[in-house]
Amino acid sequence: MKATEPAARGDRADGETLVVRAEMLSRDYVMGREIVRALSGVSFELRRNEYVAIVGPSGSGKSTLMNILGCLDTPTAGEYWLHGTRVSGMSDAELARVRNREIGFVFQTFNLLPRANALRNVELPLVYAGVPSSERRRRAVAVLDRVQLGDRREHRPNELSGGQRQRVAIARALVTDPALLLADEPTGNLDSKTGEEVLRLFERLHAEGHTIVVVTHDPDIAARTQRRIALRDGVIESDEPTGTAPAAVATAARPGGPGSSASWPAPAGRPA
Ligand code: ADP
Ligand code: MG
Repeated sequence: MKATEPAARGDRADGETLVVRAEMLSRDYVMGREIVRALSGVSFELRRNEYVAIVGPSGSGKSTLMNILGCLDTPTAGEYWLHGTRVSGMSDAELARVRNREIGFVFQTFNLLPRANALRNVELPLVYAGVPSSERRRRAVAVLDRVQLGDRREHRPNELSGGQRQRVAIARALVTDPALLLADEPTGNLDSKTGEEVLRLFERLHAEGHTIVVVTHDPDIAARTQRRIALRDGVIESDEPTGTAPAAVATAARPGGPGSSASWPAPAGRPA
């Protein structure tokens, strides 16, 4: 069962397919006697299986928005609903629980534990989620296979290439089967060839039904997503389809190579 077709945009009543509902989000930072308004009245919705780029110049509020979407921060004003749950106004403990269950985060700098091998790094979110160790191992092994690193489980980050490290980080983000995958400049520390490897992986994940938001300053990366939200001075300047044909994405995303079909199961718990 693959959710290759996003639901019709006009179908607002169907809360099932709505992953994000952001309503007039604002975020103020108090700096001494000054208030910096990093976000100002940002509203948009994301449906399941959308693949979106957030672009904008430095200081436009991209990271602030990602932190709110990723439940690392809460808005000063406005409402944020994630997968049917009202997140704005939650306590830190509730926020941490929602984050662990619903969000997969991919960072520019990978943020892997240097002394832990790939398997251990990927298992970690399941430790926080209280998943028993045999189940943790089974799921971490399966997701490392999905990012084609089944033969690198025992490797530590410094024994992996940059692209492989980022794929471990993506496996870690996926292991909890999150509703939303967030990536802040995921190819920013990679050369163009390994960056391409990571972009292909995102395209496969999108074809499998995942909902993905990527912050990027690279117009070529943004053009490969389906929708571009441009921020400027904390407001949405534009929010448009990129013109990428979904079929082209699906074709490019077909996993290749012998035996690969078994390694790419449809994500569990996400019926089409
Ligand atoms: P971007 O990721 O697009 O570069 P940010 O979201 O990091 O932008 O920042 C948006 C604005 O908010 C900037 O003016 C920045 O200086 C300010 N800002 C971000 N984080 C903080 C903070 N923790 N304290 C004060 N100001 C901040
Ligand atoms: Mg930033």
